[in-house]
Amino acid sequence: MSTLLEVSGVSVSFDGFKAINNLAFQIGPAELRAVIGPNGAGKTTFMDIITGKTKPDEGRVLWGEKSTSLLSMNESRIAQAGVGRKFQRPTVFEDQTVAENLMLALKNDRSPFAVLGFRPKQSDHDKVADIASQIGLLSSLERKSGELSHGQKQWLEIGMLLSQDPKLLLVDEPAAGMSPAEREHTTELLVEAAKTRAVVVVEHDMEFVRRLNCRVTVLHEGSVLAEGSLDHVTSDERVIEVYLGR
Ligand code: ADP
Repeated sequence: MSTLLEVSGVSVSFDGFKAINNLAFQIGPAELRAVIGPNGAGKTTFMDIITGKTKPDEGRVLWGEKSTSLLSMNESRIAQAGVGRKFQRPTVFEDQTVAENLMLALKNDRSPFAVLGFRPKQSDHDKVADIASQIGLLSSLERKSGELSHGQKQWLEIGMLLSQDPKLLLVDEPAAGMSPAEREHTTELLVEAAKTRAVVVVEHDMEFVRRLNCRVTVLHEGSVLAEGSLDHVTSDERVIEVYLGR
């Protein structure tokens, strides 16, 4: 299987504390992966390294068929190379409609004023409609984003990221605060997105991880403690010890 992202031997210290310790991680070009681990395990720092926000002290982060190093690139270059990241809180423009938010993202312009005087082509409208359909907001295109439910805002933001066609999508706790029906839709959305790109979901909620039905990476003290199916990792004595303190 080919690899889209390969992290090896990566370590990062903050004031002498090793937040990431000799971490190794690989993901394929159309793979869904859940990353779990207790608070302080290094999940956020790991994502910060991939997106270029934090540079490791040592190790390699290789990208794509040509194994290009992401370490020499800044955050915006890494985003251009195809790494999209969704933070926990949705950051949509509340006064703009769903369609306008998607159009702004498509144009890669995160300014609400960019929509003024901008004349989208038919192909832009088609793409916006296609993404709105993927995220279940086709009938809400003309609604102001501020009127959407929390779940719908999360989907809109995922849609905004998808409109830029990332090769790798990093998503932080997408199901937090959602109703059961919204969580179900979020699962479907992520599974569907991972058919054509790599998707890494950082999640605390084991029930949600079970629904994703994908390979799971367990982080602990900045390293990979276990990897495999959810049943495999949750039957691992070391994982049980870390989670339950036994
Ligand atoms: P997680 O997302 O799994 O909860 P983090 O990646 O946020 O874990 O943090 C891993 C460890 O690194 C924690 O002990 C945290 O306190 C520490 N850490 C993270 N970022 C910094 C920073 N900028 N300065 C100092 N310590 C940090």
